[in-house]
Amino acid sequence: MTKNLLLVISFIPLSLLAQKNNFYGGGYEANILERNFNEKPIRLNADGILLDGKPTEKDSLGLTPSFDIYANWDTRNIHSYSKDLSRMEGEIDLALVKSNHDYCHPINGIVTSDFGYRSGKHHYGIDLRLKIGDPIFSAFGGVIRISKYSASYGNVMVVRHDNGLETLYAHLSKRHFSSGQRVKAGQKKGLGGNTGRSTGPHLHFECRYLGKPINPNDIIDFQNGVLKGKHLSISRKTFSYFTKIKKKVYHSTKKGETLYAISRRYDVSVTNLFKMNGLSQKSTLSVGQPVRVR
Ligand SMILES: [Zn+2]
Repeated sequence: MTKNLLLVISFIPLSLLAQKNNFYGGGYEANILERNFNEKPIRLNADGILLDGKPTEKDSLGLTPSFDIYANWDTRNIHSYSKDLSRMEGEIDLALVKSNHDYCHPINGIVTSDFGYRSGKHHYGIDLRLKIGDPIFSAFGGVIRISKYSASYGNVMVVRHDNGLETLYAHLSKRHFSSGQRVKAGQKKGLGGNTGRSTGPHLHFECRYLGKPINPNDIIDFQNGVLKGKHLSISRKTFSYFTKIKKKVYHSTKKGETLYAISRRYDVSVTNLFKMNGLSQKSTLSVGQPVRVR
């Protein structure tokens, strides 16, 4: 009995145990837990056989990494899970590794394009230079969720790790694994390439949590090819770049329209309109004048 109990516990992903305290902070995290606890717990005997009847699809899903926080295992759509984390409450302490062997740099290449916003678009990953055919390693252990060809990413693989983090490897020339297969940190997953929307051989590498991109520089020191720390603290600050990259919105002034009317229409204070447009109480608006409202 003790043996069975231990097995049940060992199948609760470490991420949940580590995050439990933070999850009681209320708001968004509490919702995740509520859903998780509604899921029937999985019970296995010492041989790993399900105790409650025949294995169902749901049971096997329960064994995928961090199913408790995702409640979703989509092997077709790369971006199938997206929750607004820019307003999340509290902090999630994500244990990245136990030892240094639990991380492997995907490829030692120079950064040719960094994570960030430029020329009207956000680059949600980091680009590393490589030669076609260079081996690409899994950064952490986990299970391949996606292994397919996509028009934009080319040959792409997404690995969900046991702590809930997902890493994405794009533009590969070859994929060695298919979805559902478990990989270890440092396992050769595929070969570097130039497939999909790519203008030269490189690895486009993304880190995401619950579908939301995390700046890989928060986790990895790309100059030295090492982790920055054993833990990653995820809070609304992690996703604050979303607020920074919010698109500017302009309103074209109509005849007889006042700043007060525009303020009401877009639900933005007049003070903010003054600030965003360098206007003052004395300014007058002309017809067709663009007024930034966001
Ligand atoms: Zn890229």
